[in-house]
Amino acid sequence: MRVALVDANNFYVSCERVFDPRLEGKPVIVLSNNDGCAVARSDEAKALGIWMGAPFFQIRDLVRRHRVRVFSSNYALYGDMSRRVNETLARFSPEIEVYSIDESFLSLAGLADSTRPEWSQDLRATVRRWTGIPVSVGIGPTKTLAKLANACAKKMPGFQGVCDLTDRAEREAILPRVPVAKVWGIGPAGAAKLARLGVRTAAELAALPADVARKTLTVAGARIVEELRGTPCLDLEPIPPARKGIAVTRSFGKPVTRFSEMREAVTAFAVRAGEKLREHNLAAGHLSVFMHTNRFNDDPRYANAGSVAFAVATNDSREIARAAVRIAQTIWRDGFRYAKAGVVLSDLVNAGKVAPDLFTASDRARSKRLMDAIDALNRRMGRETVTLAGAGLKRPWRLRAAHRSPRYTTAFAELPVARAR
Ligand SMILES: [Mg+2]
Repeated sequence: MRVALVDANNFYVSCERVFDPRLEGKPVIVLSNNDGCAVARSDEAKALGIWMGAPFFQIRDLVRRHRVRVFSSNYALYGDMSRRVNETLARFSPEIEVYSIDESFLSLAGLADSTRPEWSQDLRATVRRWTGIPVSVGIGPTKTLAKLANACAKKMPGFQGVCDLTDRAEREAILPRVPVAKVWGIGPAGAAKLARLGVRTAAELAALPADVARKTLTVAGARIVEELRGTPCLDLEPIPPARKGIAVTRSFGKPVTRFSEMREAVTAFAVRAGEKLREHNLAAGHLSVFMHTNRFNDDPRYANAGSVAFAVATNDSREIARAAVRIAQTIWRDGFRYAKAGVVLSDLVNAGKVAPDLFTASDRARSKRLMDAIDALNRRMGRETVTLAGAGLKRPWRLRAAHRSPRYTTAFAELPVARAR
């Protein structure tokens, strides 16, 4: 097996830079949902000492002093850029596993060993040219080694964005320099246990006898050890596993205390869930709705959920929203400060195979035409151009996103404008 892990450098920051080149060379951070903490940092921001997950309120002074540019998460933009990167990667490999929004494993089956360096540099240059996103490439005989190689390509100088650990000699030179906590799948707890055995580097972990590995780190840990030695235990998983459920859940930007607001939120979540169903050509037979208060502060606690089975599986946003609001009514209690709610669809079936229902067949055809029209409009004009009125317009429960950049690639009204003089 030969596998490459392609990982975008500081992905969210890189997405912002594609559309605003003035950010190049400047410290930039992107905040998590609700502008909570830093989840992406440019190299310049890292150099200022801004750590991963730093709460925004703790770094405010630092941000002001060094004029760090701050962005709220813009998932519409990042998701679309991710899709573009993967489309480009598909030209370079017969098999791709999209592992996360900014990481993909590529099979190198059929690629001659001698062409790997050229292939890697060509891939980096092409992705950069076509999408604007800089990526690093890690290559190895196993996924774990490819992942480790990628980290080296990024962190260690001299690699020019590509690190290839296919050859044993190369691994013997690199693995002793990698702390064991940096190995894929070894968490802080695992690293602490290993430290007690005197295992501090990836090389020492690779040398650990199999039975000791299993005892210390369970079967999963033993697999990591095998993979570090170059024996593949993890396959590429090019086809995403069949979806078992679709969930749209959100924390609120500020506590929801009125049912009118909860009804709006639940309606908006139901509409989005219906959209996701239709994106995958699925219909759902079961719906559940939950809501709860903050578990981490002194607010009086309340949590509840309810569900319903549809007589005929559906992907009509109106039907899902109506049922979701009915459930919300039954589980809502006055007097609480709700922090989060969600809508979960399950019992998913192929929408084309929904058993036709004699009495509602014509309604179904009309429903499909309406939903198709709404989806087409929203695809062209930007998400939520058309939605249900019940989802509300003001949406005070929405998460804070005070610093969000435009959705350059997915919303017509927010396309970047180029001017020539
Ligand atoms: Mg990355």
